[in-house]
Amino acid sequence: MESPTGFQRRLNELGLRSKLRARPRMQGRVLAPAGMFKRLPATAGLYFPFYHDVPAAYAGDLGHHLRTFRRLGPLVSWDTALDVLAGRRPLTGPMFCLSFDDGHPSWPDVLAPILAELAVPATFFLTSGLVGRPGNLTWRDCRELAAAGHRFGSHTVTHPRLADTDDDAAVREILDSKKEIEDRLGAEVRDFAAPYGNPAVDFLDRDLRTVREAGYRSFATTLRAPMHPGDSPMAIRRQGLHPAWPLWAVRTRVHD
Ligand SMILES: [Zn+2]
Repeated sequence: MESPTGFQRRLNELGLRSKLRARPRMQGRVLAPAGMFKRLPATAGLYFPFYHDVPAAYAGDLGHHLRTFRRLGPLVSWDTALDVLAGRRPLTGPMFCLSFDDGHPSWPDVLAPILAELAVPATFFLTSGLVGRPGNLTWRDCRELAAAGHRFGSHTVTHPRLADTDDDAAVREILDSKKEIEDRLGAEVRDFAAPYGNPAVDFLDRDLRTVREAGYRSFATTLRAPMHPGDSPMAIRRQGLHPAWPLWAVRTRVHD
């Protein structure tokens, strides 16, 4: 049995964590000291940094992150990253593959110009049921991003924790999102990112099987270690970042 004080402490920690998430600058400052003991990648490894919203206030900060990655190694498309994992392309140093989750209106407005300026390709994992809803981006926005050379994957229909979802609903989340994005954008959707993304906690082997059977070729989690040729595309490890974080905080997630 957990002691009342242990329970209280966990509640306090949860409270602190949600407060920090709402204040990304401060969250970055809290994380930063731990970055002292990590270094940005210098050896061969494939990194999948990902973000969510890119508020205009942090546009310059995101540009700083991306230029920093680019000094260390190329920023490549999801296709190229999968080629590296399959051993079809060499990996000789750090390499980065960028993605964005959910469905934020800042993507066309704030993010797309940064990606265009730096000539960086991105993959957007769409929560299909959010698209077109107030406060989210539209299908027209998605088509513009696709026309600019970016690609789309599925991030379910309603963003549930799949592990808590019954079998039929989980199948619908995985299949219906794929079909709707394909219908709306006229391009095949072959990549999937699980909401929250922790194996066994947030999704089950059942979901991995469904994704495979639905014809997806890759499955992204939120485990963080760098990847190497031979690693499975059905267990992509991504590093969640916020554009407001200083590089010291980025180093706690993206390091070798
Ligand atoms: Zn998400």
